Amino acid sequence: MSLYFNEEHEQFRQMVRRFVENEINPHVEEWEAARCFPAHHLFKKMGDLGLLGLCYPEEYGGSGVDYWYNVVLLEELGRADCAAVPMGIAVHTDMATPSLAEFGSADLKRRFLAPAIAGDVVAAIAVSEPDAGSDVAAIRTHAKADGDDYVINGSKMWITNGTQADFLTLLARTSNDGGFRGMSLIIVPTNTAGFSVSRKLEKLGNHASDTAILSFDNVRIPQANRIGAEGMGFMLQMKQFQRERLAGVLMSVTGMEKIIRMTINYCRERHTFGRPLIDNQWIHFRISELLTEVEALRQLAYYCVRVMVAGGDMTKEVSMAKLKAGRLAREVADTCLQFHGGMGYVEEYPMARYFRDARLLSIGGGTDEIMLGIIAKYENILPGR
Ligand SMILES: Cc1cc2nc3c(=O)[nH]c(=O)nc-3n(C[C@H](O)[C@H](O)[C@H](O)COP(=O)(O)OP(=O)(O)OC[C@H]3O[C@@H](n4cnc5c(N)ncnc54)[C@H](O)[C@@H]3O)c2cc1C
Repeated sequence: MSLYFNEEHEQFRQMVRRFVENEINPHVEEWEAARCFPAHHLFKKMGDLGLLGLCYPEEYGGSGVDYWYNVVLLEELGRADCAAVPMGIAVHTDMATPSLAEFGSADLKRRFLAPAIAGDVVAAIAVSEPDAGSDVAAIRTHAKADGDDYVINGSKMWITNGTQADFLTLLARTSNDGGFRGMSLIIVPTNTAGFSVSRKLEKLGNHASDTAILSFDNVRIPQANRIGAEGMGFMLQMKQFQRERLAGVLMSVTGMEKIIRMTINYCRERHTFGRPLIDNQWIHFRISELLTEVEALRQLAYYCVRVMVAGGDMTKEVSMAKLKAGRLAREVADTCLQFHGGMGYVEEYPMARYFRDARLLSIGGGTDEIMLGIIAKYENILPGR
């Protein structure tokens, strides 16, 4: 019985599942080897099916449906045969565009949100810098006011979709006030003079996702491209982070479930000492334990969705969910790989890729330690500075 999804949600689930099976999974090997998936090609197909703007207003081409449809989308993407492509999609739908949709001007939404929903352009979120990852308040990329424009200088690091993006949702300093004050979120088209991709990064996993270092050398952007009021960027980005973390958790739950079920099948087929591996109590108990933890995480994620949909603040709970997801994914990856024996260690089996990809969850979108700090702050046990 589902408490959260009605028949229409389930029909939608079948449609997304078919999309993943037909349009993503058959190409994963090729895209992983190429170290990039063709975002423009794939996003256009998704835009045509209405998958890129489920909760965004119909006025800009969105579907205006309830957030549970987005839950379904993320859950089904999480079942894909790699984490890289779902991550690139979620960056576009749940990390680079929520602030634009909620706080952008009508003109900005017409120029950037509408084509993003249609799948005509690819978006990226540019917050982290070489010297500022966990400590977002330490960013140095500067947008200096000049007439009606900003002139942007600096560098961004680790940017997912970074080599393919048509626009960035960029967090930059718009005043010299230190710390979290004086930052703004600005939409930056990547065809603007002075913007360049410095380098694409080679990574441990998530190979089909392009991650890049970006450079800004006197990039001139109209101030009208700012999302919301000047100086509100940090606050808007902190809000956007909650949505990003929730998306990461929802995708991870189904990813873990898939890999555990694959392990169950493997342990049923594989015999040692005259009986199936799964008949060993250590193995079926351990798998039962992992499935229990995954289910508990799913329910925490659904609770976060309910709080968010009701207009509440889910920051503490989504931080707990993100922390748990990162740690649990590592445990699932390690345990399931172990139960595969040597087959867990070879590239011809999906296990090795999952092991690599899952490691990112404790780092990207805010590390485990940053989640612990947020939880401690909400519990009023974080020491003052
Ligand atoms: C594959 C990939 C994709 C990414 N995509 C994007 C993207 O699209 N856009 C974007 O803006 N960013 C992106 N990131 C960046 C990501 O958000 C950062 O890597 C992350 O926030 C950590 O920052 P850092 O790497 O600078 O680590 P650091 O901040 O240098 O931290 C290093 C270690 O120290 C710990 N640490 C830091 N401060 C404390 C403290 N006060 N107490 C205890 N421990 C602490 C951290 O938890 C971590 O374990 C991506 C990263 C990766 C690897």
